[in-house]
Amino acid sequence: MKDHSIVDVLIVGAGAAGLTLAVDLARRGVSFRLIERLTEPFQGSRGKGIQPRTLEVFEDLGIVDRLAAAGSPYPSQRLHHPGGSTTDMQEFTLDTGTAAEPYRRPLLVPQFRTEAVLRDRIIELGQRVDYGVALTGFTDDGDGVAAQIADAGGAGTIRCRYLVGADGARSFVRHALSLGFPGKTLGVRAIVADIEIDGLDRAVWHRFNEGDRARQISFCPLPHSDMFQLQAPIAIEGDVDLSPAGVQAFIDARLPERAIRVRAVHWASAYSMNARLADRYRVGNVFLVGDAAHIHPPTGGQGLNTSVQDSYNLGWKLAAVLAGAPAALLDSYEEERRPIAAGMLGLAADLLEKARHGEMRRGREVHQLDLSYRGAALAVDMPGRGDGVLVAGDRMPDAVLQGAAGPAHRLFDLMAGPQWTLLVRGGGADRPRAGVILLRIGSDGALRDDGDRLGMADGDRLLVRPDGYVGARFGADHGPAMAAYLARVLPPPRS
Ligand SMILES: Cc1cc2nc3c(=O)[nH]c(=O)nc-3n(C[C@H](O)[C@H](O)[C@H](O)COP(=O)(O)OP(=O)(O)OC[C@H]3O[C@@H](n4cnc5c(N)ncnc54)[C@H](O)[C@@H]3O)c2cc1C
Repeated sequence: MKDHSIVDVLIVGAGAAGLTLAVDLARRGVSFRLIERLTEPFQGSRGKGIQPRTLEVFEDLGIVDRLAAAGSPYPSQRLHHPGGSTTDMQEFTLDTGTAAEPYRRPLLVPQFRTEAVLRDRIIELGQRVDYGVALTGFTDDGDGVAAQIADAGGAGTIRCRYLVGADGARSFVRHALSLGFPGKTLGVRAIVADIEIDGLDRAVWHRFNEGDRARQISFCPLPHSDMFQLQAPIAIEGDVDLSPAGVQAFIDARLPERAIRVRAVHWASAYSMNARLADRYRVGNVFLVGDAAHIHPPTGGQGLNTSVQDSYNLGWKLAAVLAGAPAALLDSYEEERRPIAAGMLGLAADLLEKARHGEMRRGREVHQLDLSYRGAALAVDMPGRGDGVLVAGDRMPDAVLQGAAGPAHRLFDLMAGPQWTLLVRGGGADRPRAGVILLRIGSDGALRDDGDRLGMADGDRLLVRPDGYVGARFGADHGPAMAAYLARVLPPPRS
């Protein structure tokens, strides 16, 4: 290896978190490298639930329809009872989208496909993943980070302004920073495997022996493939034979009355469930995202989603600070994302407990649409704005707005892209500013909110962050406060 690159950001690890950050930085024109120690993409189905909020993120990143095409809605669950009777049920309520919440159902997409869609997007944006390159060490000298890397051809260095550890649960970066990863091992071990089998129909997700941890086993059909994802709790200790013959014997032992025949095992793993949260998400110029910062049990399908949204929160802040915004903006990453992960740990552990007792339904609490950064330093509500429909820190809902030229528009389409959005109700002296799209709403504006969905009063100004959260609410008389806010989050305007 003769690699001595200089980039603004080095992303370590090309899982869901690292790939998402790479897409976001690539579309913003930030110089970065994305290194992955595996020599080729990981092929397990692992995190297969994509939650509604993540679908909104993927819409903004330009991949939501490809992702939907690569996956499917969740199938019904078929509970197989002793004696052979069955009950079919929907795990998720079958809500259809609304104008404010276009995605209300999680999608089922094997993680290797989600990652493939993200990789394709990175290539379209002119970047790539460097496979077979591992981070082996780094030093932060305050001005930036010198990273040591290695591939099959030898060692090299990458000099970067910021290093982001997206290197998974056993994170090298977290260990190198000597960060604590407190939490607990949940006393549950399971196998997960992508297998081809004969003997079960593919229309439903089959669950056998629910509530009996020694015999429980489930088979979820993976869309656009011949595979099922097998999941089953196993004893805490002991070797597990994950060969095709071993998986066959495992199924036969739990379902002696069924003639299920294993044709192939594409990927299999035995893992212990943990709930852990890193003490810090940032040390100097080094950040953690995704499983490197938090791990949860898979119940509730939160891990991949939380990881993607970590990166979506960090990407715009890195880009802004690299372009000249105050460095303090980066402090908001840990302030906002760590409490979200702490909440997820509780939710996932709670759902795991319910799953142990055979209660499988999951509702709105796993959709991540209600996550909020209320109360954080970047969420500013000026006095006199009332409670309103929208509160600083909350997710900005979608809405259908009437365009002055005729056709109606989705607000998400108008806001899509890497910039901020300033919504102004009524007239006013707001001037255009680089990095902010100005949308004037009202009878004389470019847009009308006929149903008053946004609940904005005349003179209201709403600043929506690049990651789709309400940053701040101001009134017509708050011009200096708004200017001060923008100075915290944007590079200075060019004179
Ligand atoms: C059985 C199971 C089911 C799950 N179900 C769901 C679900 O339904 N929904 C959900 O949201 N989540 C789910 N998850 C969790 C989800 O898989 C993880 O949260 C997700 O993979 C985290 O992504 P990540 O990018 O942070 O880490 P990872 O996917 O672990 O990626 C980290 C990458 O970093 C690389 N790396 C490590 N060290 C280095 C180094 N030194 N140099 C270079 N590269 C390095 C690794 O090779 C790896 O590719 C599930 C997990 C399991 C095990």
